[in-house]
Amino acid sequence: MKITVLPGDGIGPEVTREALRVLEAVAAEHSIQVETTAALIGGTAIRETGSPLPDATIAAFDGADAVLLGAVGDPAYDHLLPNQRPEIGLLKMRQHLGGFANLRPSKAYDSLIDSSPLRREIFEGTDLLIVRELLGGLYFGEPRGFEDGDTSAFNTMRYSVAEVERVARVAFESARGRKKKVTSVDKANVLETSQLWRKTVTKVAADYPDVELEHLFVDACAMHLVTNPTRFDVLLTENLFGDILSDEAAVLTGSLGMLASATIGGEIDLYEPVHGSAPDIAGKDIANPIGAIASVAMLFRHTADNESAAAAIESAIERVLAEGHRTADIAASGRPISTTAMGDLIIGYAASPDQARSTASN
Ligand code: NAD
Repeated sequence: MKITVLPGDGIGPEVTREALRVLEAVAAEHSIQVETTAALIGGTAIRETGSPLPDATIAAFDGADAVLLGAVGDPAYDHLLPNQRPEIGLLKMRQHLGGFANLRPSKAYDSLIDSSPLRREIFEGTDLLIVRELLGGLYFGEPRGFEDGDTSAFNTMRYSVAEVERVARVAFESARGRKKKVTSVDKANVLETSQLWRKTVTKVAADYPDVELEHLFVDACAMHLVTNPTRFDVLLTENLFGDILSDEAAVLTGSLGMLASATIGGEIDLYEPVHGSAPDIAGKDIANPIGAIASVAMLFRHTADNESAAAAIESAIERVLAEGHRTADIAASGRPISTTAMGDLIIGYAASPDQARSTASN
């Protein structure tokens, strides 16, 4: 695998360093050849080259199988116009890579369950994956704009059958490796785009008779996420609904630092933790690297198609948490450990798969 690594800003370099160490150790253990190339993005790139996504970074994507990103965002550039700020590098890169399916897992770790804003009896056992369409819908639909002297504004929500079909297939394929259930989210009682969505998803489901399909209106889905999250396996949504629901699902777990994501379906897959550059804790070796490390597990699963390497990392994370090791963001009491120490512990178990597997089955 060829991987372009973009550490980025703030805590990005710290969590990416740990993710990369895990990636290399697990790749060696599973005889996967990995070649990594580091490149600049965000505020760091502006500082060195004047651009948030320099040409050299775009050139580094050539021939890559995946991009591993830390985080982008630097308060030193807060005074700039939105189209000049570090974050624009991220948006441009996402467009360049072309991924249309954004995958965000949200899981209740038994040993961390009390960090959730939900009661234990509601959250316990939650293990869901949101598959969000990323390149269509309201955020990209034309025409859009202001009119009548800026006294009114409009956006267009548009979907084609092909756009719905390709992301639906990602959801059904993902469900096959999980609990074999897809919940498709729409607003088909009001929106034509949702009626097309529902009809298309139902048609795709016929190719996956082993996967159960249910349809749910987005308002009901938002409610079920906080009252009964264990009913879900894979949630399939269009862009806007997915933006909102994935943040709702994320906060259920209690810490932003734990959450991973993948964007797949384009030329090059993109893996990144859900959190930002956290300038308030940058450079202190206290950030939680688990979101970045869990993103590497997704990379092994989706880009390398190596489930055992992915599972080795996920089991190692569970084991380290079960043993009570905590970075500051998830440490309710006791002495928190550093970013580096968390990386060391996870590598210790992930690169010894037999140990991690026996813990997972205990
Ligand atoms: P943030 O995610 O950076 O931080 C929010 C809070 O969560 C902070 O208190 C932070 O300390 C904490 N936190 C985040 N990740 C953590 C981790 N791994 N370990 C421990 N604590 C963690 O969001 P923000 O403060 O709104 O944004 C900061 C910058 O990041 C902004 O410039 C924003 O634009 C950018 N941002 C980037 C991305 C991305 O790169 N994908 C995503 C969101 C925000």
